[in-house]
Amino acid sequence: MGKENDNVLFVDDEPTLLESYSSILGWNTNDKVSEVLSLIEKDGEADAREHRQFNVFLASSGAEAVEIVKKGIKEDNPIAVGFFDMRMPGMDGFETIRTVRELDPRILCAIVTAYSDRACSEIRELFPANRQDDWLFFKKPFNPEELVQAAINLICSWNRRRREEEYIESIEYVKNGLKYILKAVANLSRIPPVSVDNLISGILYQISGLLRGENGLICVLGKEGLKYGQGIGCYKDMDEEIILRDKQVRKAIDSNELVFNEKRCIIPLKCDNDQLGIIIVESEVQRKELLKELLEVFKNQIINLILSSKFYDELLCKDRETISDPLTGLYNRRFLFQRLQTELKRSSRFNFEVTLLMVDIDDFKKINDTYGHEVGDYVLEEIGTLLASRKRGYDLVGRLGGPEDEDEKYAIRYGGEEFIMVYPQTTIEDAKMLGERLRQAIERHSFYTPQGDTFGMTATIGIAHERIEHERGNWEHYLQKLISDADNALYKGKSLGKNQVVVSSS
Ligand code: GH3
Ligand code: MG
Ligand code: MG
Repeated sequence: MGKENDNVLFVDDEPTLLESYSSILGWNTNDKVSEVLSLIEKDGEADAREHRQFNVFLASSGAEAVEIVKKGIKEDNPIAVGFFDMRMPGMDGFETIRTVRELDPRILCAIVTAYSDRACSEIRELFPANRQDDWLFFKKPFNPEELVQAAINLICSWNRRRREEEYIESIEYVKNGLKYILKAVANLSRIPPVSVDNLISGILYQISGLLRGENGLICVLGKEGLKYGQGIGCYKDMDEEIILRDKQVRKAIDSNELVFNEKRCIIPLKCDNDQLGIIIVESEVQRKELLKELLEVFKNQIINLILSSKFYDELLCKDRETISDPLTGLYNRRFLFQRLQTELKRSSRFNFEVTLLMVDIDDFKKINDTYGHEVGDYVLEEIGTLLASRKRGYDLVGRLGGPEDEDEKYAIRYGGEEFIMVYPQTTIEDAKMLGERLRQAIERHSFYTPQGDTFGMTATIGIAHERIEHERGNWEHYLQKLISDADNALYKGKSLGKNQVVVSSS
């Protein structure tokens, strides 16, 4: 909460009145104020206690008042309350209020008048309909107590409003922060497959976004200590060992508490008693207290993500051979089918379209026969890389067959030179275009023998496409159909002369 505002402006063309305002409410007139305050305290108005003194500004004309208000705005020390004489030469009170409220619509106004020379309705029109409690009449002549009371009421009300605004703003801030975190976590959990390496750069990026920091570092502790380091900005090439020797970092790790000072935010990541890692982001954002709470929420999500990725990585290490093809590094058939099932289940929930491309190299056998098996392997590697580099984040590429793969569950042609690509949420038109691009990429690619001879390859592509409907539910049916349709389309392409893209008509 910011400092309370005590700025009261008096505008009157009569110097004696200005003087008495100042002597009643100014800095040197505590006695009178505290006298009144003691009366008010008895009535239980706690807010008033904070206003033992007022910061009094005096203006002998409307124009002077406008200047004072402008200065207050400029110096971020705004006038909160104004007492406006109505009858003044030049700019009258009416005009003055209109002008200062245009400059700062938060100013609360006391209309000081001896006569009812302006109809109440005219004054009312100066203020918006929902802002009619922004002003009150203050009749001359007045006694000091009345003046102090009016000033206190208005000042309290100005400060209360700012507190309310600040509160609403902070709720809005937290709401937006939470939205950001939810979205970030959803994005991070969607990275397939979630290996720690893939994940942590994403985490660092998302946290830096929230903290608006451009320099930062994330370290996750692996078996051999700080294994996964990932930095941005000036932390990019920073040695993790140096970071860990930093006093504040050590303190954050030891106490498992978030450190958030003017320059840096240090987030220790600990689960039970296991130190998982640490995130450091340089950030100079405001509202650190609120951010700290948000970061606690984010931190817990991040810990979960890292734990599951670490688990995944361990599985991956153990099982690398069972889920990936050793030659091309692409997923093997078993893993592809696992993922395909998950993908179809997901699509069936949202009624998505799924496209499956089956890519078969043309006359691959000839390459083996002409140049030998090793060149054949090299061609498979090259084409695997070509396909993998053309997939988007959520697409899947896998190589069918390969020597270790014996699963006969689906009626498809087996051969080591067939690839499958799956494009979730893709229309048939887009799939055709993607297929055509793949075909061209293979056709344009130059392959080399160890002797330096160049040769080209082509491939035929069969495409199958399905909208996965939730009601029909049976996603296994779709899986079988997608594969056999793509296979049939591919077969048709081969019989039509190869090197082409054929879309299944069923
Ligand atoms: P088509 O244009 O009709 O597709 O003819 P093709 O010669 O490409 O197809 P075919 O299915 O007759 O031959 C596939 C060959 O791929 C047979 C097999 O020796 C070879 N092959 C399968 N896996 C591997 C592998 O991992 N490495 C190498 N070098 N060859 C493989
Ligand atoms: Mg072939
Ligand atoms: Mg084949």
